[in-house]
Amino acid sequence: MLEGLTTGAIIERGKNVVMNTYGRLGMTMVKGDGAWVWDSDGRQYLDFVTGLAVNSLGHGHPAIVRAIQEQAKEILHTSNIYWIPNQVALAERLVKHSFADKVFFCNSGAEANEAAFKLARKYAKKKFGVHKYEVVSLENSFHGRTLATLTLTGQTKYQQGFDPLPLGFTYAALNDIDALRAKVSNDTAAVFIEPIQGEGGVIPASIEFLREARALCDQYGALLIFDEVQCGVGRTGKLFAYEWSGVVPDIMTLAKALGGGVPIGAMLATDEVAGAFQPGDHASTFGGNPLATAAGCAVLDIMLEEGFLEGVQERAAYFQQGLETLVQKYRTGESVRGKGFIVGWPVSKLGPEIVEACLQNGLLINCVGGKILRFLPPLTVEKTEIDKALGILDEVLSRIWR
Ligand SMILES: *Cc1c(COP(=O)(O)O)cnc(C)c1O
Repeated sequence: MLEGLTTGAIIERGKNVVMNTYGRLGMTMVKGDGAWVWDSDGRQYLDFVTGLAVNSLGHGHPAIVRAIQEQAKEILHTSNIYWIPNQVALAERLVKHSFADKVFFCNSGAEANEAAFKLARKYAKKKFGVHKYEVVSLENSFHGRTLATLTLTGQTKYQQGFDPLPLGFTYAALNDIDALRAKVSNDTAAVFIEPIQGEGGVIPASIEFLREARALCDQYGALLIFDEVQCGVGRTGKLFAYEWSGVVPDIMTLAKALGGGVPIGAMLATDEVAGAFQPGDHASTFGGNPLATAAGCAVLDIMLEEGFLEGVQERAAYFQQGLETLVQKYRTGESVRGKGFIVGWPVSKLGPEIVEACLQNGLLINCVGGKILRFLPPLTVEKTEIDKALGILDEVLSRIWR
């Protein structure tokens, strides 16, 4: 499709027909292999964005390609009015390797959070009464773009122009337990937390904050919900980010990396909580379809291979050390933060300029809020590729940093 067109020509045609919802960079990707991608002009880039934490096993991983090809030959889609073997297999893997007992499948992060939100309200009302419907989320959070999830999202810029918003949402500051305590009450159905805020600038929740949040939820009979749409599925060097803290949620949401590039979302819960949903309470036409769950099984099988996550931790530490060296060299002020291969680096207002210069030099990185560089390399990235990325960044910063 559109073969032979230059990048410029594709963008020109795109502006005519594609809705203007993204501030897009002037590039396309038409081919990928491991940590590398190529644009329609044949230029090569090292991909430290990975489709925003989606292509976590790199591009064209043979096991994922094979799983998708083989499933496509058998059957692409049935419906959730029938049982889907791949969905059962993926749910079994998720349950075996997490706190959860039951899984609901959907197609995106927003849908997973929407499902979590609905389950929490249903559970709270059934168990405690109709008054218990408030949901607390955190300032600077990001939970998606549906009406409920953008209301959960604690950033007014995403909400402007869409009011009236649904009722029963309140917000507290991240890592401020007194602020959270002030918002949680007997009317609270759930507290939503990203163990590492992604879109908010790669800001980890402290272990003490997560522990206190757990205790508060227990005290008031509220559910603790972890949004691991971005930081889950291997990104931090453990399968789930919550494992680093030892704090266990009642519900967890996943998406992005779970399908290795095929759209899929999941909402995981304990049996006790999941029991609040009965047939008819929630549904998704595509959710967990044979193709998406074949990809999901392939992704988890690779990540759960012996030594895979240890390798991620080791190479991520190498990358973070390299970044820290650049922080020292350029004295940018704040140091890098994050866990494993989700890393943020505050660079004041220079974010977009650095991103553009890296792009011109063959490195794809991203910036959040205009001032925090965000690095999301594939978990499979090799040390030589890390060195290459650090070299490009060094060269770019030596010209731009002032
Ligand atoms: C990306 C993201 C979402 C939304 O996911 P979509 O698939 O875009 O709907 C929700 N929560 C977090 C933490 C995210 O990073």
